[in-house]
Amino acid sequence: MSDFSLDLNDDQQQMQKWVHDFASDVVRPAGPEWDQREETPWPIIEEAAKIGLYSWEFIANAFSDPTGLTFPIVSEELCWGDAGIALSIFGTTLGVSGIVGNGTPEQIAEWVPECFGTPDDIHIASFAVSEPDAGSDVSSLRTRAVYDEAKDEWVLNGTKTWITNGGIDKVPNVHVVVASVEPELKARGHASFIVPPGTPGLSQGQKFSKMGIRASHTAEVVLNDCRVPGNCLLGGKEKLDARLARAREGQSSRVQAAMSTFETSRPLVGAQALGIARAAYEYSLEYAKERRAFGRAIIENQAIAFKLADMRMHIDAARLLVWRACWMGANGKQFTAGEGSMSKLYAGEVAVKATEEAIQILGGAGYVKDHPVEQWHRDSKIYTIFEGTSEIQRLVVARAISGVHIP
Ligand SMILES: Cc1cc2nc3c(=O)[nH]c(=O)nc-3n(C[C@H](O)[C@H](O)[C@H](O)COP(=O)(O)OP(=O)(O)OC[C@H]3O[C@@H](n4cnc5c(N)ncnc54)[C@H](O)[C@@H]3O)c2cc1C
Repeated sequence: MSDFSLDLNDDQQQMQKWVHDFASDVVRPAGPEWDQREETPWPIIEEAAKIGLYSWEFIANAFSDPTGLTFPIVSEELCWGDAGIALSIFGTTLGVSGIVGNGTPEQIAEWVPECFGTPDDIHIASFAVSEPDAGSDVSSLRTRAVYDEAKDEWVLNGTKTWITNGGIDKVPNVHVVVASVEPELKARGHASFIVPPGTPGLSQGQKFSKMGIRASHTAEVVLNDCRVPGNCLLGGKEKLDARLARAREGQSSRVQAAMSTFETSRPLVGAQALGIARAAYEYSLEYAKERRAFGRAIIENQAIAFKLADMRMHIDAARLLVWRACWMGANGKQFTAGEGSMSKLYAGEVAVKATEEAIQILGGAGYVKDHPVEQWHRDSKIYTIFEGTSEIQRLVVARAISGVHIP
C-alpha cells in the first residue's frame, strides 16, 4: 500500500464540516448585508470567537497539522460562505504571521494571544507593509523607524495604505508595521515593529470604499512620531544589528527566508480564492439544471455544460496546487519553482474566471443582486491583486524556474 494519499484524515474532515456548517448557517446568509453596509461584521466575529474559530488556539492548532492542509481547508470553506466576512475573521492572521515570522519566542507568546483577545473582549491585528509609493515594489518603503537610545524607544513616521483592519480603534488593535531602519540598504534595511493597541501617534487615514470584499475594512494608517518600546522591535535589536552589519558588507542574508515566508502564506490566500470559485461553480451548476430555455434545461446545451466542466477542472487543479504548496511549507520542502506563488496566481485567476462564467450561466439573473454571483465576482478580483499581483507572482515563478533575475 502506498504512503501517498489525497484523502483527508478524520480530524481534517471534522474540521472541514465544522467550518462549512458555520459558513453555511452564519456567514453566507449575512454576506449581502455586510457587503451593502461596507462595515466590519463585529457580531459575526463575536460568533466565530464564541465557537473557538476566532482564537489563537485555533490558529496554533491549524498550523500544527503536519500535512499543512487544515488551514487551506478552513480558508476555502469560510470564503465559500463569504470572502469579505472571512477576511474580517482572518484579517488578524496577517498581523499574526508578521509576528510569528519575525518575532522571538517570547514576543510570539506575548503578542499572538493579544491579537485575538477573548470572546468577551475581541481584539484584532493588522499587518502594515504597503505604502502609496511602495506596493509591488516593497523595497521602496519610506516609513522610517529611528532608535532613540536614551529612552530605548523606536520612533515611527510614515503613511501605510491599503491596510486590512488598519487603524480600527473600536477594539484593541495590534498593528505590525514594517519600516525602514536604513534606507540605503533598501529591503535589507527593513524591520518589523509591534505597535501596541492605543499607542499615540498611530491613526487611521482614509478608509477605502471597495469593489468587493466590502465587509473587510481597508484603510490608510498614519504614523506620526509614533513611539514604541525597544522590545517592540520584532526579533530584537541584537539580531537586527547583526543583520544590518551583514547587509552593509554586502553579504547575502535572509532573502531566501523572506521568499519562503511568502511561499508559505500565498497558498492560503489561494485557498480563499478557491472558496469563492467553488461557491460560484456550485451555484451556477444548480441553476443550470433548473433554468429552462427552448424547452430544455440550459445545462443540456454543451455551451453551458462545457463551461461548468471547465470550471470544475480548473477549481480542482487550483486546489491541488494550493495543497501541494501548503504541504511543502509544512514539511520544510524548498520552493524551487515558486510553487506557493504559482498556487495563489492560479487560484486567483480561476476565481475571477469562474465567477464571471457563473454570471454568464445565470444570464440577466447573474447581473443583479437577487443572486450572489455578481458579489462573488466583485469579491474574487482582489485575489489577482493583494498578497502580490498576478504579474508579481509570474515574476517570482519565472525567476525561480530560470535562475535569471528578470526585472
Ligand atoms: C483590499 C486590499 C487589502 C490589502 N491589504 C493589505 C494589508 O493588509 N497589508 C499590506 O501591507 N498591504 C495590503 N494591500 C496592498 C496590496 O498588497 C497591494 O495593493 C499590492 O501589492 C499591489 O501594490 P500596488 O497597489 O501599489 O500596485 P502597483 O505596485 O502600483 O502595481 C500596479 C500594476 O503594475 C504591475 N507591476 C508592478 N511592478 C511590476 C513589475 N515589476 N512587472 C510587471 N508588472 C508590475 C502590478 O502587477 C499591477 O498590475 C491590500 C490591498 C487591497 C486592495
